[in-house]
Amino acid sequence: MSTYPASFPEHSPRNANYSIDVELDPSTKTMTGREVVTWRNITSKPTSELQFHTYWNAWRNTRSTFMREWLRVNGGTPEAAEVLSRPPSDWSSLDVTAVRLLSGGATAMTDLMPATRYIAPDDGNPEDRTVLAVNLPQAVAPGATVAVEVAWTAHVPRTFRRTGVIGSYYFLSQWFPKLGVLEEAGWNTHQFHMTTEFFSDYGVYDVRLTVPKGWVVGATGVERSTTDTPAGKTVHQFVQEDVHDFAWTTGPDLLVRTSRFEHPRLPAVDLRLILQPEHADQAERYFLATKATLRSYGEWFGPYPYGHLTIVDPAWQSAAGGMEYPTLFTGGSRWLAPATTVTPEGVTVHECGHQFWFGVVGNNEFEHAWMDEGLNTYATGRVIEDYYCSYGVNPDYRAALEKGGLRISGLGDEGEVRIVELPGHPFFLATLFLPQMRSTAGRPHPLLAGYAAAVERAAMTSR
Ligand SMILES: [Zn+2]
Repeated sequence: MSTYPASFPEHSPRNANYSIDVELDPSTKTMTGREVVTWRNITSKPTSELQFHTYWNAWRNTRSTFMREWLRVNGGTPEAAEVLSRPPSDWSSLDVTAVRLLSGGATAMTDLMPATRYIAPDDGNPEDRTVLAVNLPQAVAPGATVAVEVAWTAHVPRTFRRTGVIGSYYFLSQWFPKLGVLEEAGWNTHQFHMTTEFFSDYGVYDVRLTVPKGWVVGATGVERSTTDTPAGKTVHQFVQEDVHDFAWTTGPDLLVRTSRFEHPRLPAVDLRLILQPEHADQAERYFLATKATLRSYGEWFGPYPYGHLTIVDPAWQSAAGGMEYPTLFTGGSRWLAPATTVTPEGVTVHECGHQFWFGVVGNNEFEHAWMDEGLNTYATGRVIEDYYCSYGVNPDYRAALEKGGLRISGLGDEGEVRIVELPGHPFFLATLFLPQMRSTAGRPHPLLAGYAAAVERAAMTSR
């Protein structure tokens, strides 16, 4: 049993820090990257190995663990036939080209490439290349720090599991060699599976993304600088402290909108929305849902601590809808989303909500996905019911209900049906909620407010 801390630390352990340079070449859909990873051993045991996730090898071929699992479930379906017929250029890869030790007791720049090997700690699949182990010439003692430089080239897939390119829209997650987590029992580094979430240590990310000049970039963190290169490209530098991952998006025709969340007792949050041009009219819906979440979760669970948040509206068919990354999440909306559906609000609230569990608590999602997902799903429902409460009657059927003898006796703020009665029947009263679960005196459930208003009206008319 561990005890609840008397006070919380000012920041995370910052023991896995990344300084990354990467260039995206859209003409070949390749990324060329170089990173310096500075890692501190925060366990009580030495280790003579580092383990990296190299997740884009999950879609390298059909023999990866991810694809074997996927085909076991989907094999024989039209979707599988489509995926299997994709040309090699639609698949992905991540090839580490150099690993060098920069510190840690050895002489500068020790070549560690010969000391690398792919391992498969979960299933022993010798064809899986999603975890790369690197032997170190000297063990890293508890409390000691080691720095390694890793260079790689990667091919961007046609979007698979929320990552890749569709048209000219790129969404890039799990894209760089990222350390697993050393625990007291050893490295906790899982292969990429068909159904998986993620687990990493916290640190500081300083990332320089090179893309064609004029392209819009959205990413984890705050944009610190942009620098044009003689080759007609622009380097976008994003920095973020105290996060455990980094995701980004880019494209030539994305729209950017900004807004700001403010609250009397919670810190302000600058919002940046990266929007598909065809969804230009949905900016306010994204902002409203995000602010509703920051407000409610902030009041219930504690303030969102980062001061800024990027919302990414993914391209249609990009399979990139609805996913959370540190200080960034993807919504999901359909072209012509009618105002009466809870999309994109439901997805927005849910993914924004993950910022609090996945983002700040950062438990091992791979092994205990229910903790983040369960708490967040429960809280999502509360926010949606608070702010959108549209599980009501389809307005198209209102006339039919009335014609059938039911009396609509309670309406919500927007005139939507909330309460239905059967006149003359002593008991029959239809409602669609359990408002007593969360209604407070200060913020009564819309159903109760509607009912009170209906009673008042009835009292007035029968006087
Ligand atoms: Zn979720």
